[in-house]
Amino acid sequence: MKEKIKVGFYGVSGCSGCLLTVLYEDCFKELVKMVDIKSFPFIKEDSYKGKFDYCFIEGTVCFDEDIVTINELRKRSDKVVALGSCACFGCVPSIRNFHNQEKIMSFVYPKYNHLKEVDPTPIGDHIKVDYYLPQCPPDKKEILEFVKCILTGREFKSYTSPVCFECRKKGNPCLLEEGKICLGPITNGGCGALCPSNDTTCYGCRGPCKDANYEAFFKMLKEMGHTNKEIKDKLETFAGLAFKEEEGESSKWLER
Ligand code: SF4
Ligand code: SF4
Ligand code: SF4
Repeated sequence: MKEKIKVGFYGVSGCSGCLLTVLYEDCFKELVKMVDIKSFPFIKEDSYKGKFDYCFIEGTVCFDEDIVTINELRKRSDKVVALGSCACFGCVPSIRNFHNQEKIMSFVYPKYNHLKEVDPTPIGDHIKVDYYLPQCPPDKKEILEFVKCILTGREFKSYTSPVCFECRKKGNPCLLEEGKICLGPITNGGCGALCPSNDTTCYGCRGPCKDANYEAFFKMLKEMGHTNKEIKDKLETFAGLAFKEEEGESSKWLER
């Protein structure tokens, strides 16, 4: 019988929500049939010190020890997969980049902080990442589809159309038309327009859509009466660093 591929799951500074998504009964049951899970926080002691074919990493790099951890995992892994918005874009911890860092650290770690913090950044800023599975938390079906692709040699294709595409297909009422800030037009879909389908605006957790017209989108939001702060607050929540990078030097939403 062919040996199963060796897989590891790890987390740096995250909330463990991505790992818990994998642990949900139906996802995990299917996963263990397909791969040999050598390491998984909460359920397997981390005694395995060998190599991985694929290593899934959750979380943002927030502390110097995170950099040590991911470098070590990179050395031991043939392929590295960024699991969830934190690993892909920096997500909620990266909001710190857009505010007074010292003030925020004093709120979160008021005293006795023995950790040496670094600017919160996605893991791809520190090590080579082979695949990205964004979303906060990531989609179980997409994780399983990814694993099926690697096992069958099919190419894994990330979804590249905006959230609006799936949202319109579902026939949802448009929240922008209700005057709300919905980032659907500038965000990569693949979530089935999860939030707008539940009457909640998109916060951009699957990252920026490559072909989006940011300038026109922000102009429209301003014309709708939204303030710079409201737009900034929304954009920085899940993928602020990635939106900043995608928009480029010509138009800086952070300075609006
Ligand atoms: S992506 Fe979301 S669920 Fe995953 S670790 Fe970050 S905050 Fe938690
Ligand atoms: S609700 Fe949001 S995602 Fe849906 S069509 Fe409107 S802008 Fe796009
Ligand atoms: S609608 Fe937006 S915020 Fe909600 S899951 Fe999809 S990409 Fe993320």
